[in-house]
Amino acid sequence: MNSNKRLTLLIAALATLSVACLCLLLALLAFLGLRPLSLQKLLPPSTMTCDEELANLLAGSEQSTLPHNELSTEYTLVTYAVDGDSISVYDMPPVPDEMDPYQQDTARHRELWDFVTRLVPLDYRRQVVFFVITTDGTYGTLGAVEQTDNPETWSLYVDILDAESFPDLAATLIHEIGHLLTLNTTQVVTDWEVFNEPWNEEAYARADAACDTYFVFEGCSYPDSYLNQFFERYWQAIYPEWQEINQEEDEEILENLLDEFYGRYPDQFVSDYAATSPQEDIAESFLYFVLAPAPAGETIAEEKILFFYEFPELTALRDTMRASLCSSLP
Ligand SMILES: [Zn+2]
Repeated sequence: MNSNKRLTLLIAALATLSVACLCLLLALLAFLGLRPLSLQKLLPPSTMTCDEELANLLAGSEQSTLPHNELSTEYTLVTYAVDGDSISVYDMPPVPDEMDPYQQDTARHRELWDFVTRLVPLDYRRQVVFFVITTDGTYGTLGAVEQTDNPETWSLYVDILDAESFPDLAATLIHEIGHLLTLNTTQVVTDWEVFNEPWNEEAYARADAACDTYFVFEGCSYPDSYLNQFFERYWQAIYPEWQEINQEEDEEILENLLDEFYGRYPDQFVSDYAATSPQEDIAESFLYFVLAPAPAGETIAEEKILFFYEFPELTALRDTMRASLCSSLP
């Protein structure tokens, strides 16, 4: 894309997405050198077992080769309504001409949805009622989940350009499933004022103070929810420090402070992105739980991966996702 076209795109930018969870590849990839878990070397295909293929997939997502060609706007290309395994076009907003080929590529959209249906058992995606094809160029945000105007149902977003990288697509989808597992209404109690007025800081502070367990935008976590158990076990000691950092309103400064926070506790997190919040930490740890071999538990980061093995339903989900991935690896 030449710079004039890009400028036109930027000027023509109309839609922006407000997503509760932005999973930034950029953040996922920064400071790779500080990772507590050693990166596996990429092995040649054909000689690998399923376990090796999946460890390789995780390593591939950590070493993403997507080119940096981000737009300043994220375009919504097509919104599909989801019904079980099926999708149908719900909305196709006007987009700049440059975006037309991506908006019209319904075969690719369906291919991506089919991959979601193969990867994630229906019981773990029943709350997904919209599948949204987006793009913000390559790099940037590959995927996200966000509650719809009903907190019991969710939209799943996938960037059609970033999805060209299979390891990135698979890893991001597993991370997003980690959010669905831990933030749905069987896990947290919605605070309606916060939900209806996400910009209302006073409402958030009131709801947070009234919640005896870990509070997140999606609600007050149940005492025995995955997220609250994870928080109580691994975050109590560092939470005051994180809370102070999280007061920072300038995004760039916040990102730097969070990087420094990660740098102080590199053996506590599976990735730098995990250190951005307890809810991102549990989603990242879930990703490593699914794709990495069971660790020895020598660090807190490894203990966080072992956390999920305590729940038989999650080890069953892990087995299903791994089998599905191994049969659909390109
Ligand atoms: Zn996330």
